Amino acid sequence: MLSALHEELLAQLPASDEFSCATAPFTGEPLPSVPQTSAEAVAAVAAAGRSAQPAWAARPVRDREAVVARFARLLVDHHDRLCDFMQWETGKARVHAAVEVQGVVATALHYAAHSARYLRECRVRGAVPGLVSARVGYRPKGLVGVIAPWNYPLFLAVGDVIPAVLAGNAVLSKADSQTPLTLLYARHLAVRAGIPDALWQVVTGPGSRIGPAVVDAVDYLSFTGSTRTGREISRRCADRLIGASLELGGKNPMIVCADADIRAATRGAVQAVFSNAGQMCIGIERIYVHESIFDRFVRELVTRTEQLRVGAGYGYDVDMGSLTSRRQLETTEKHIADALARGATAMTGGRARPDLGPLFHEPTVLTGVTAEMAIYAEETFGPVVSVYRVASDAEAVRRANEGEYGLSASVWTRDLRRGRRIAAEVVAGSVNVNDGYLSAIASLGAPMGGMRSSGTGRRHGREGILRYTEPQTVTTQRIPTAYPDRLRGTLLAAMNAGTRALLGARHRS
Ligand code: NAD
Repeated sequence: MLSALHEELLAQLPASDEFSCATAPFTGEPLPSVPQTSAEAVAAVAAAGRSAQPAWAARPVRDREAVVARFARLLVDHHDRLCDFMQWETGKARVHAAVEVQGVVATALHYAAHSARYLRECRVRGAVPGLVSARVGYRPKGLVGVIAPWNYPLFLAVGDVIPAVLAGNAVLSKADSQTPLTLLYARHLAVRAGIPDALWQVVTGPGSRIGPAVVDAVDYLSFTGSTRTGREISRRCADRLIGASLELGGKNPMIVCADADIRAATRGAVQAVFSNAGQMCIGIERIYVHESIFDRFVRELVTRTEQLRVGAGYGYDVDMGSLTSRRQLETTEKHIADALARGATAMTGGRARPDLGPLFHEPTVLTGVTAEMAIYAEETFGPVVSVYRVASDAEAVRRANEGEYGLSASVWTRDLRRGRRIAAEVVAGSVNVNDGYLSAIASLGAPMGGMRSSGTGRRHGREGILRYTEPQTVTTQRIPTAYPDRLRGTLLAAMNAGTRALLGARHRS
């Protein structure tokens, strides 16, 4: 499909004699083979990034913002090709690829507009007001590692690089083995926009083989992936005493209150469950519906689900594409088969669709799911949702808070105060009221991340860029500390008397 460009993209990688190729999900055919980086080459690439970083960090933030704004422009200009790459590598529907381009462009524009403000040195009250002044500045970490999975190879894998470079860091990205070309194409555009060649580098190879070398080479790691890998990586980061943000798995709940707009809620549910064929960390996998509207909700959800156009096209006439890997298809099939064997009902769907392509699966709605079924609490990461009947908001919240995760949630009600009240009781890093999944992650000024086993740290907003910095406190004194040591005791006694008088006046019993 793209041989000249393909060569140009692969030339960005360290040279290697070892190659590997993934499979195109739509067809099962091999994707172009990609050189695999050795652990030694990772160290060399990291060293080059480190040497490029000080000059980049010395440039004014406004300059760095201008480069990222140019990058955003190039991403928009190359929208169609980016979508082609993503569809080719992941099998997602065109509409979901376009959402990714939109998302990464919005992220770039957000940080291109706000980084100087987020990174501005701030004054805080000094130890002795008037005498000591204190300022906090945000220094770059140095070299940041970014590891992200195949499900959003642009929005996540590139979205996490943008604030890192704006904060003055070099970046070492480990491409997911399923989606290296999307990342390499985006990096190629970033270099055209003015990111220095050595500043952002990409390496390739299985996480189990070169992941540790990446962790060992960097000063901070932004990791997105499964909770299992997150735990392993976090132990390695702890050993090296480096920080990490860990954006991990979820089993996200939706609560539908008795007063919800059922048409809107079912439309929102279909988007939140089946976008990206359910391979979405913030996708909805369980829905708790008030008993007074349960039957109508399920009926409308099933009707809308059956209207989805599933297929392998490169146009906008498809609503849901393929699963990306055999592993995701197998997990989806296994969870559904286990649930059906133990008494659940498939209200629609329930089967793989090899007639559409090797990794397709029908969008599936289950009822009658119980706690002993694997799908009840385990993340499926496929196009399937379980719908449960509840008797009250309190029961819905209690059940939504079951399990180990806490990434994203959704609440539907016509009463926004009730929505906010329920949201405050749900254990999740983001809660979308009257939206399935998108409004919180698209609010780029707001932090996004997980509670409990869904991770630590946040992307987006001020938190999303400050994680890539070291806060440094600098105090200055007009009068240098020059009093003799023997005066210390007298001074401390006087301060103690003053504090006692102040507290006595304030807290007289
Ligand atoms: P995974 O943990 O198996 O792999 C994620 C990435 O980590 C891959 O690129 C892989 O190569 C790399 N990796 C694997 N082992 C490694 C190691 N030892 N050291 C360093 N890197 C290593 O995850 P997956 O199953 O491919 O992705 C799906 C998971 O990601 C789901 O659980 C999903 O919920 C989660 N996810 C979370 C978010 C979020 O923002 N919270 C977003 C997307 C996906």
